[in-house]
Amino acid sequence: MPAELDAVLADLGDLVTTEPQSLDAAREDRSGHRSASAPLAVLMPETVEDVQRVLRFASRTGTPVVPRGAGTGLAGASIASGGELVLSTLRMDRVLEISKDDELAVVQPGILNGELNRRLEPHGLWFAPDPASRAISTVGGNIATNAGGLLCAKYGVTRDAVLGLKVVLADGRLLELGHRTVKGVTGYDVTSLFIGAEGTLGVIVEATVRLRPLVTGPIATISAGFASVEDAARASAVITSSGLHPAIMELIGESAMAGIAQYLQIPAPGGSRLILQFDGPGADTESDQALAIIASLGGTGERTTDRDEGEALFAIRRAMHPSMAALGTTLIEDVCVPRSRLPAMFAAIGAIEQKYGITIPTVAHAGDGNLHPNFIFTGDVVPEEIWAAADELFVAALRLGGTLTGEHGIGTLKRRWLRDELGDDQYELQRGIKQLFDPLGILNPGKVFDPA
Ligand SMILES: Cc1cc2nc3c(=O)[nH]c(=O)nc-3n(C[C@H](O)[C@H](O)[C@H](O)COP(=O)(O)OP(=O)(O)OC[C@H]3O[C@@H](n4cnc5c(N)ncnc54)[C@H](O)[C@@H]3O)c2cc1C
Repeated sequence: MPAELDAVLADLGDLVTTEPQSLDAAREDRSGHRSASAPLAVLMPETVEDVQRVLRFASRTGTPVVPRGAGTGLAGASIASGGELVLSTLRMDRVLEISKDDELAVVQPGILNGELNRRLEPHGLWFAPDPASRAISTVGGNIATNAGGLLCAKYGVTRDAVLGLKVVLADGRLLELGHRTVKGVTGYDVTSLFIGAEGTLGVIVEATVRLRPLVTGPIATISAGFASVEDAARASAVITSSGLHPAIMELIGESAMAGIAQYLQIPAPGGSRLILQFDGPGADTESDQALAIIASLGGTGERTTDRDEGEALFAIRRAMHPSMAALGTTLIEDVCVPRSRLPAMFAAIGAIEQKYGITIPTVAHAGDGNLHPNFIFTGDVVPEEIWAAADELFVAALRLGGTLTGEHGIGTLKRRWLRDELGDDQYELQRGIKQLFDPLGILNPGKVFDPA
């Protein structure tokens, strides 16, 4: 360890840990991937000034820094390796302001999404981004990955809920970006550049987030069975094109449904499932119309307006992640296509399954066209054949006008496909932006862009 690092670590006192268990935990996120060796130390700053001090040191010495929230990412973006420092935001978890008048909150990055919403509830307010990991992921991590969730089609992704940010740059300078106003077009929209940047441009140390009034009124939940996943996908596309706005529309493919049933030890219903939820004043009428569409396309749907029963229907969808993990190591993919192309994307997945002789259990946030195909294998390393099948999946999504990642990000796992989607000119331009913000390349190196 360099002598100067020793001095900084001593200076930061109990904000630093080099305990093997913490170093080991920082080698992985929830993608199932792990770095080859442990980082130098985990730093847990409590103030903006602490973060500035760490980054000034890192810049002076050329030491790489990996920003990290709760480590729940699925793209290998917060994984740290030998020679790197981990900058954890978990001790910066305060709510600094809640303004009902301006429908906003000012928060530190390490607060968990679920905890923020718990604090907002008594004020009748709500932070809408709702990744399925909301109980365990940080707001800073949600912003750095532009997280989505189940409610995006109606209530937007994280980007739609961020008004302003304070960020510390690689050299320790503090920037205040964005505004507290609803509108604001002064200069370039640098706030947006940081949303989804996966910790490669700076460390988010404070966020001003947009809130919504809590949704009141009726909630109608529909669970519908279909013979095949293409039928279910067609129904979801028709529901969208009919101008209905379900708050949630989740699709569970046949093999995913079978895996979930096995995990939950419930009878496998066979076929695919579409689960929808409508909220607000139009919930009853809109759910009537959705039921009619489902029946006209060969599905069998049942509706409940009881909130607990509705929650129980979604428990099946929430069991997807653990049920796949119980089958082996999973590579969870995250392609997104225009919603009208969902049936075509499912057909492409079926063709890849046949070609490679594998099953690819898939769920989709059908309201957004965002699919999570799961590749299951044994061992820690993704076999080349699985990468080849995943490669075909990405190509199919791009061909259908889609994107490599709807919500999980590029991280380390999708770096090698980034240029395919961006094209050479945009790829180089984006690398140039990274270079401008972080000339020494010390912020989360090797994430998003190839190290070379
Ligand atoms: C069971 C499960 C369900 C999930 N469901 C969803 C889902 O529905 N939708 C979805 O989008 N994702 C989902 N995820 C993925 C993950 O939870 C999200 O990507 C989440 O936003 C990551 O937050 P985190 O605090 O864990 O960040 P981390 O994993 O710690 O970090 C993620 C990235 O953000 C960067 N980062 C973190 N904090 C900062 C900061 N303050 N400043 C700069 N960069 C920072 C890191 O460097 C890294 O690049 C799920 C994960 C799990 C395990």
